[in-house]
Amino acid sequence: MRRRASRGLLSSSADFAELMWPTRCVCCNMPGELLCDACRDSLPWIEQRWACPACGAPHGWLTCTGCGADAVHASVVGGMEASAWECRAVVCALEFAGPAALMATTLKDAHELRLASVLAAAMATALDEASSWPALDGEARFDRAAVDAICFVPATPAAYNRRGFDHMELVAHALANLLDLPLADVLIRCASKDQRNLGKQSRAENLRGTVRVIDDVSDARLLLVDDVITTGASVREATRSLLSRGARSATACCLARVW
Ligand SMILES: [Zn+2]
Ligand SMILES: [Zn+2]
Repeated sequence: MRRRASRGLLSSSADFAELMWPTRCVCCNMPGELLCDACRDSLPWIEQRWACPACGAPHGWLTCTGCGADAVHASVVGGMEASAWECRAVVCALEFAGPAALMATTLKDAHELRLASVLAAAMATALDEASSWPALDGEARFDRAAVDAICFVPATPAAYNRRGFDHMELVAHALANLLDLPLADVLIRCASKDQRNLGKQSRAENLRGTVRVIDDVSDARLLLVDDVITTGASVREATRSLLSRGARSATACCLARVW
């Protein structure tokens, strides 16, 4: 009886909150849903067919200058060649334009935690599309059957202390549920300087050695998730750590790509 009563109380609290502070679209502020139909239809989706398989850039197939994949393509023999980045493939769902930026910042800075499942759904959609297109190794960019677990690029200690939660842990958890894959919480971040005002080379140097693996990842094929790729420094550093500890491969999936 006590359990039934508490469920009823929770339900009415949620109803009361919705009445007082109705859910609004993060992009246009219309009451109703976190992401209204009109804004969902206008999201700047990256067409996986044309995206760079090595760094997720939106227009990089064959001619990407963001990662050196153009040079790798030129040297491909028999369809087998290492990726220009350490990840075996990178899949980004959206260009980092208005709606994608709002979704990412509203989750982590405005603490709208319900957005984690919206971001995860967008990433799952991109992964589904990317499963039809090859990575540089000739295999599908994403194959659920060829992934053992999902892990995520963790927040820096400063960001975690500021927000009180790790937004990518929430997104990775939601994506793991959608894809029915286990979540492997295997990475930690050590302190580094704020990346936002650093250039490409400085970002990579600033992150060197700051992502550590804290569990056994031997021979694991991992799907590594993060929110935004700018220079790729965070995803690449996390991938280097995973591979150096014996992971077989890491495929990266991010919500948005700065381009
Ligand atoms: Zn809207
Ligand atoms: Zn590229």
